[in-house]
Amino acid sequence: MKAQELRQLFFEFFRSKGHKITPSAPMVMKDDPSLMFTNAGMNQFKDIFLGHSQSQYKRIANSQKCLRVSGKHNDLEEVGHDTYHHTMFEMLGNWSFGDYFKKEAIEWAWEFLTKKIGIDDERLYATIFKGNAEDNVPRDDEALLFWQKYFSGKPDHILEGTKKDNFWEMGETGPCGPCSEIHVDIREENERSKIPGNKLVNKGHPEVIEIWNLVFIQYNRKVDGSLETLPSKHVDTGMGFERLCMVVQGKKSNYETDLFQPVISEISRITGKKQGVNDSWDTAMRVVADHLRAVSFSIADGQLPSNNKAGYVIRRILRRAVRYAYNNLGIEEPFIYRLVQALAKTMGDYYPELKSLKELISKIILEEETAFLKTLGKGLKMIGKVISEMKKEHKKTLPGKIAFELYDTFGFPADLTQLILKENGMDLNMKEFENEMKNQKNRSREDAILDTGDWKIIRDSDVTLFTGYENTEDEVLITKYRQVKTKGKNICHIVLDKTPFYAESGGQVGDSGYIVSEKEKIKVTDTIREHNLIIHIAEKQPSDPGAHFTAKVDAKKRLMTANNHTATHLIHHALRSVLGSHVEQKGSLVTPDRLRFDFSHFNKLTREELTKVEEMANRMVRENNNRKVTDNISLKKAKDMGAMALFGEKYGDTVRVVEFGDSVELCGGIHVESTASIGIIKIISEGAIAAGIRRIEAVTAGKAFEYINEKLAAVEDIATLLKSQGNIRESVERLITENNSLKKTIEKYQAQSTRTALKNLEEKALNINGIKFLSGQIETDSADMLKTIAFAVRKKGDNNLLVIASSTGGKANLVVMVSDNLVKEKNISAVNIIKEIAGEINGGGGGQPFLATAGGKKPEGIKSAIKKAEEYIRKI
Ligand code: ATP
Ligand code: MG
Repeated sequence: MKAQELRQLFFEFFRSKGHKITPSAPMVMKDDPSLMFTNAGMNQFKDIFLGHSQSQYKRIANSQKCLRVSGKHNDLEEVGHDTYHHTMFEMLGNWSFGDYFKKEAIEWAWEFLTKKIGIDDERLYATIFKGNAEDNVPRDDEALLFWQKYFSGKPDHILEGTKKDNFWEMGETGPCGPCSEIHVDIREENERSKIPGNKLVNKGHPEVIEIWNLVFIQYNRKVDGSLETLPSKHVDTGMGFERLCMVVQGKKSNYETDLFQPVISEISRITGKKQGVNDSWDTAMRVVADHLRAVSFSIADGQLPSNNKAGYVIRRILRRAVRYAYNNLGIEEPFIYRLVQALAKTMGDYYPELKSLKELISKIILEEETAFLKTLGKGLKMIGKVISEMKKEHKKTLPGKIAFELYDTFGFPADLTQLILKENGMDLNMKEFENEMKNQKNRSREDAILDTGDWKIIRDSDVTLFTGYENTEDEVLITKYRQVKTKGKNICHIVLDKTPFYAESGGQVGDSGYIVSEKEKIKVTDTIREHNLIIHIAEKQPSDPGAHFTAKVDAKKRLMTANNHTATHLIHHALRSVLGSHVEQKGSLVTPDRLRFDFSHFNKLTREELTKVEEMANRMVRENNNRKVTDNISLKKAKDMGAMALFGEKYGDTVRVVEFGDSVELCGGIHVESTASIGIIKIISEGAIAAGIRRIEAVTAGKAFEYINEKLAAVEDIATLLKSQGNIRESVERLITENNSLKKTIEKYQAQSTRTALKNLEEKALNINGIKFLSGQIETDSADMLKTIAFAVRKKGDNNLLVIASSTGGKANLVVMVSDNLVKEKNISAVNIIKEIAGEINGGGGGQPFLATAGGKKPEGIKSAIKKAEEYIRKI
């Protein structure tokens, strides 16, 4: 059975059991501060499990794009080396929200696996939670009972597991419960007769693997560690789709299924390396095929490779693929970008974003590959240098610190460093390297420590009502609050029954302001959204949380933000009109002071294009377009209205459409009533941030006025400085030409005086034991001239030793040059000489064996410094 059909079969099966089939949520997380990427099917339902929102359906099933490369679930280092862990994979799941529980969950899993797809029940094993005394949780006898029904007469197919494998928790606190895993034994008959499968469950055997985990959410873990029983219980299951395909298609590796083979054949064709011939080739092919998926899906979801956070994770995944191809397959040219086509063909039917964005994905990957291959090249050069120095000094072990620097600044991987060292008969102090890595990890962990207390509930309430579209002030009550310690500071999270404060989202920053009661005034520095909660970040805890409060948003900042948000829409619209409909929003930031807008486009905007965009956006401002908002409509209706679809919407979301004249956008943000409020839009920069992605920054209203005035004032200042009456541009051009010709004249004079100085030095030169000693004070203001003379003498060849000085403005400079042959044969070092004599001018210095310099504060000492040098040489 083909993968595509198998996925459908799963959906059909659960549809027949009353489940609503929904599309995958995005793999890149937008509104969960604790997670960068979706790592399990349940992530998008967290709010429901936490009781912050209600599900539209009681039963849902889907396939979720997951990425396990950071945090609690990190499988990255396994990938490629084993045959069944991926970075990006699909998790098939069925959910019950307060509806069915263990009985049905187990019954249907059994029915699907044994009846629908016909897995032999001899090959299946189930695990159950054996209980934990500390938590006061008994063995999961309920689950045991149901499994006994299906494994009747086969008690050895049910295994008991500990908290580690069989108790699932959302996090340190929150929903949790026992789980039952289903494992499958796909070994050949003769292998199976030697060792029974139950001995290999959860033992890392590649052919006895977990395929499905059924989680029964029945407890809530509180901050003090204790468990309370949840009023409504939920089911959360997750089955690895690639593993299921492998089983159904009778393969021994996920990579042998039709989900991966088209891409792997393509890798094999491009690199000319066959599958199944060489282990290291196979590993690299698996790594490349896997990472291609992770990176492509991530870009399609709007997360591009970059230098920090989620973007950096993606960059590192791609670099890992490039490195394996480089090391194991000998590929030194970009090629992963060429695989996007095959991937889009394989998975694009179910995930159409791969098809529609394949060109963008491919271009971005190409750019990343090219840049990293260059880095690899640079790193190789650096290592080459380090190795030759080590050889000179007869050292055999590279300090971990250097390897870490290579890794940290160039992204140059330690295992590659190690490999190259080995080829040179050297090794790496791995312990030191690992220590450096650990230190770095600790540093970033300390930065992120966040200590959160339990919510103190003041009043029962549902979701906070947001009143900020109409008001900046409202009468409110506190429903709950908690103390939070972050970076050593105590702050407070406050949730209200209703609020005019806008929580950061969709690129618009959160509001700030005050929450005021008769007795106190609490400053709110920011407003964020955590799942469905609107959280006011307050500087202190309320002293009387039961009181009546007025929530007041900083209205001036709010208006500036609204100006910038509406301006962002106008610029977006203008960009699409001027450049074409390939322009899509790729990110935005709206603050009170400025706006930033990232969009897809392949070339730098010409000056004409930028002017056109600015003109058009400003025309829309002057037209005084009124805001038109349509709230709570379906995604489809919004698209019919011409709204530009954005990434990040989840199934079942209703959307809000904001219109200003011809600009129609899906947007939950705050906007001006009419565009006249914006006054003026001024674009202040345009540039590239990644392949095919450009960024515009702009200011509006008062800030734009300030910006323009500043620029004009600068031009006026220049005119005054130049005493220019007519055309400033001409005056500046004249100045530049003049300056250039003056420079040339100076250079000529300098060359002349260098020659004269050299001649003088030659005439006074002494012969000390076969060394030609040139010395003297040079009349010059330029310290560079001393070096120029030194290099000129060095060029003359063997046996020269030069000590010269100059003095300007109460300071003295000394330069010592030693011919290369004297350095090598006689072991004379300019550094030693400078150290010997610098004291005479009250200074210090250093340099290299052939050239050293010093600066000091006592020009009177120059003569004696030179004398001292002469004595030093006489003693050699
Ligand atoms: P494993 O022990 O094999 O790593 P897990 O305990 O981490 O699995 P769960 O977190 O329970 O797995 O995820 C549910 C299912 O998702 C697993 O039964 C498995 O089929 C699949 N799965 C988990 N991690 C991966 C991965 N990295 N690649 C592919 N499939 C995975
Ligand atoms: Mg795992």
